[in-house]
Amino acid sequence: MIFKRDMQSFEASIAYARQQDEQDELRGFRNEFFFPQYNGKDAIYFCGNSLGLQPKGVQAAIEQELADWRQVAVEGYWKAKNPWLFYHQQFSKTLGNIVGAKETEVSVMNTLTVNLHLMMTSFYRPTETRYKILVEKGAFPSDQYAVETQARHHGLNPDSTIVEISPRTGESILRTEDILQIINEQNTSIALILLGGIHYYTGQLMDMQSITTAAHKVGAIAGFDLAHVVGNVPLKLHEWEVDFAVWCSYKYLNGGPGAVGGAFVHEKHASDKNYPRFGGWWGTEESTRFRMEKGFIPKAEASGWQQSTAQVFNMVALKASLELFNAAGINRLREKSIRLTNYLEFLLEQIKGIDLEIITPKNCNERGAQLSLLFKEKGKEIHQRMTEAGIVVDWREPGVIRVSPAPMYNSYEDVFHFYEIVEKIASKRF
Ligand SMILES: *Cc1c(COP(=O)(O)O)cnc(C)c1O
Repeated sequence: MIFKRDMQSFEASIAYARQQDEQDELRGFRNEFFFPQYNGKDAIYFCGNSLGLQPKGVQAAIEQELADWRQVAVEGYWKAKNPWLFYHQQFSKTLGNIVGAKETEVSVMNTLTVNLHLMMTSFYRPTETRYKILVEKGAFPSDQYAVETQARHHGLNPDSTIVEISPRTGESILRTEDILQIINEQNTSIALILLGGIHYYTGQLMDMQSITTAAHKVGAIAGFDLAHVVGNVPLKLHEWEVDFAVWCSYKYLNGGPGAVGGAFVHEKHASDKNYPRFGGWWGTEESTRFRMEKGFIPKAEASGWQQSTAQVFNMVALKASLELFNAAGINRLREKSIRLTNYLEFLLEQIKGIDLEIITPKNCNERGAQLSLLFKEKGKEIHQRMTEAGIVVDWREPGVIRVSPAPMYNSYEDVFHFYEIVEKIASKRF
């Protein structure tokens, strides 16, 4: 879906914001979440890109598993309401819709960085001539540490193995043409291209389709970290032929702190039982798993990368949350998200007297829910003022405030109140 900006029709008034909320067919989902409280009211929570709110259904979902454990104990693997042996499989369909994959291409397991290492074990197998890893400069630290230590693990020097792509001088976001050019230049020396699907700092959404196509042209693997994409922007990983992807579930997916992560492995690789990997018993067929036989034979799907017993209590909040995603639909959420973030941008553009630059791309097709605000002066103090006024947004070094209205539970009124507060801070020449 390609969206156009429709800034002309927006109005900077509470009446307009309320009217937009009334017309919003997703407005009811807000009531399905708990908001942190500020002075007896819901805080303006724009931090769903860091930790999504708790769905009200989580408690009952946890109590269900506690009850099954209490009442049937080990038999819960087969006899629980949601049998634990297959617990992770409940998520594949909804997640498949969200990332554009077949159910068999999605595996819910571990956590993001662990999955990244597991995927690199399979998909980063350097040779003497093809060994480089292309990443974005300033990638999320955990991703940087993962590629650095993978290079060392293979006996390579990270400095000559990792190629960082930077924005042009004076620019904050990457140009797709520059990424494609570096791919062409580095050509057959590239083993793996690994980028954040949305950059955590700038909020830039990458053109994953073009990058994947270019990677394949030079014989490289294309993998993406979808931490900031999953549940935010719908994807077509299967159709784009992305080789693998990983994500966490505690940001836009509202799976709770440290929730189980996920991985995508394209069917063209996952169907190959001999694809190199580090195996464990949960990657094998359930029907033969308990024969306890020698010889690892993985399932011919993404869950063939599973290793350990499903972490039921680490998945149960995600179950409650994905039911809401199922009901809302990722495409409807994206449509609302585009308008909500455009409205936020429109309002911020009305504010005078404060030196504020939005470093996130202006084109709504090149970003998700998040806007990254760069204040030329006193950014940290402004963040402090926002916090004191009941706004939850985060400060990221070296100098942006990330603001993410989540379409699942944020309203136009939230966005308008945020604007009013920033306006007030600006008028005091802070
Ligand atoms: C949030 C985030 C992570 C976190 O990784 P964990 O293993 O879940 O701690 C990693 N990479 C990116 C890009 C992120 O935004």
